[in-house]
This record gives sequence, C-alpha cells and structure tokens, in this order.
Amino acid sequence: GQGQSNYDLSFKILLVGDSAVGKSSLLVSFISNVVDDLSPTIGVDFKIKFLTVGEKRLKLTIWDTAGQERFRTLTSSYYRGAQGIILVYDVTRRDTFTNLSDVWAKELELYSTHEDCIKMLVGNKVDRFLSSYFLEHEIYFSNIQESERVVSREEGITLAKELGCLFFECSATTRQNVERCFEELALKIMEVP
Ligand code: GDP
Repeated sequence: GQGQSNYDLSFKILLVGDSAVGKSSLLVSFISNVVDDLSPTIGVDFKIKFLTVGEKRLKLTIWDTAGQERFRTLTSSYYRGAQGIILVYDVTRRDTFTNLSDVWAKELELYSTHEDCIKMLVGNKVDRFLSSYFLEHEIYFSNIQESERVVSREEGITLAKELGCLFFECSATTRQNVERCFEELALKIMEVP
C-alpha cells in the first residue's frame, strides 16, 4: 500500500513451538484480522505488518515455521538477528507446553545469537475453555470442542518466569489478546537500549 516503505524501526520476530499449536493462525489473525482455513505449507514463511506504537512507525517481519518444526529442521538462519521470539503452546495439549522447556527453549539457547532478544510465552486456544459456570449449571452446547484447557493460566505464568518471558493467553480464533501480545512485544523491543 501507499507509504508502506516509510518506517522508523524494523524488527524481526519469530514464532516457535510444536506443530498445530496455532502459530500460523496467530500470524494470520494479527496480519489480516481474518482467520482462513490454513493448509499446511512447507518451508519458512514470513509476513510483514506495519504498526504504529507511540510516535514510531514499525515494520514487523514475522517469521513462521510453516510446518518445518515437524521435521526438526529449523536452522540458525531462522533465528539469526531476531529481536523478538514468541513461544507458542496450545492450552488444550500439555505436551506442547512441556516441549517448550524440553525442546524449544534449548534450541533458542543454541541458535539465538541476539543478546537482547525479548521472549514472549503465548498460551493459545483459550476459546476452548469450558467455563465452570456452564458445568455447574449443566448447560451444554452442541458445538463444544472435544478437547478443553488442560494447562492453567498459573502454570503459564510460572513457566514464563522460569524462561524469562513475557506472558499472554490468546485465541487466534476469537482474536482475544492477539493484537495486544504483538504490540506488547514490539513495545518491549523498543525499550531495549
Ligand atoms: P501451526 O502448525 O502451529 O502453525 O498451527 P495452525 O495455525 O496451522 O493451527 C492448527 C489448528 O489449530 C488449525 O486447525 C487451526 O484452525 C486451529 N487453531 C489455531 N488457533 C486456534 C485457536 O485460537 N482456537 C481454536 N479453537 N483453534 C485454533
């Protein structure tokens, strides 16, 4: 679009985490405000978003693994020069949560060369939470998803502290917190001297 080449600062941001936690959906949700059915694509992909934070016009280049994580073939070039890294898990699948500390945090240490890189932990798919209110009142819905939240917000907060991350819970589907989490990350990157 017009004037999109004008920006004050440019940041590289990465999405990492297990397959199917919703990385591509979060990216699409943030970029276009519409979540389409995403067919898995192979190869590293990135999207660009212009964002105004305070007085500054930012260019965010957000990299998505686009399925490569399934083959454990993310390379150093994926991580190189990233100022922000978003570690995503699915609140309905505990293995995606434990893999962040067992697998992904270790890989970050190995590859991420940028010292001041800001990390953010994101628990996605919070829309799948079946409220205790409905359970108590025995209200059922025909369209309720089979899998519900198994990782609590408190566990997320604890892991975020351990890994030195900011923390948000999001839903790519309802767009809850999606904009906020990318904006907060951008803000924190801007505060790096
Ligand atoms: P990726 O492999 O990490 O990029 O995950 P995808 O973005 O491809 O998402 C995997 C599946 O989870 C897809 O079927 C998405 O529609 C679904 N999904 C992604 N985000 C959400 C969310 O916030 N809520 C729900 N209910 N489903 C989601």
